[in-house]
Amino acid sequence: MDTAFLTRWVAGIAEAVRAERDRLTELDAAIGDADHGANLDRGFGAAVQALSDDPPATPGALLRLVGGTLISRVGGASGPLYGTAFREAGRSLGSSGEAPEVSLADLARALRAGLDGVTRLGSAAEGDKTMVDAFAPAVRALETAVGAGAGEREAFEAAASAALAGAEATVPMVARKGRASYLGPRSAGHEDPGAASCALIFAALRTADQGHG
Ligand code: ADP
Ligand code: MG
Repeated sequence: MDTAFLTRWVAGIAEAVRAERDRLTELDAAIGDADHGANLDRGFGAAVQALSDDPPATPGALLRLVGGTLISRVGGASGPLYGTAFREAGRSLGSSGEAPEVSLADLARALRAGLDGVTRLGSAAEGDKTMVDAFAPAVRALETAVGAGAGEREAFEAAASAALAGAEATVPMVARKGRASYLGPRSAGHEDPGAASCALIFAALRTADQGHG
């Protein structure tokens, strides 16, 4: 995967977030403050613009730019959390020498670093009804695919399905982190908006791969 692939990924996320903006807002209206769709639309829109204004030379630099843009442009919990995920993923690639292309194994390691960044910052565990409930199984699926020697297509399919299943599994959960936790047991019965957006992010990985040549 090179910067063209990652640029397609970020553009695909921005497109999906725009298309699903109202659904994300409705989910956040049920258990939060109804700004998740607008937050991510603004953030990923700004990220696409930043990549086009000043195209980064390496995958590591690209992910760090996306992370920094999300942190500076998105208010709300999800900006710093997703921003940290992309920034830490980019940093992890930076340490492997800023190669112009990264392997599937590199990307899996980078996304693991991104997830670690999210859990360090937000201290949510799986089951707390957050983006971590989609993010963690997706990273595991990617790692399993890498371990089994799967190709990109198969690995991204597995990660996207795991993220979607993880997001759907948040419906009955009671939120223990973030704004939704203020509702206590009344947070049950709704999908977590951040888990839903995280599923879009992993689905866009699959789309970016299909868009390849
Ligand atoms: P805010 O809650 O500040 O309005 P958003 O609506 O943009 O921000 O994002 C809400 C989402 O952020 C939640 O649905 C949840 O997935 C995620 N989130 C909130 N707090 C945490 C946390 N501590 N760890 C991980 N994810 C969190
Ligand atoms: Mg909100």
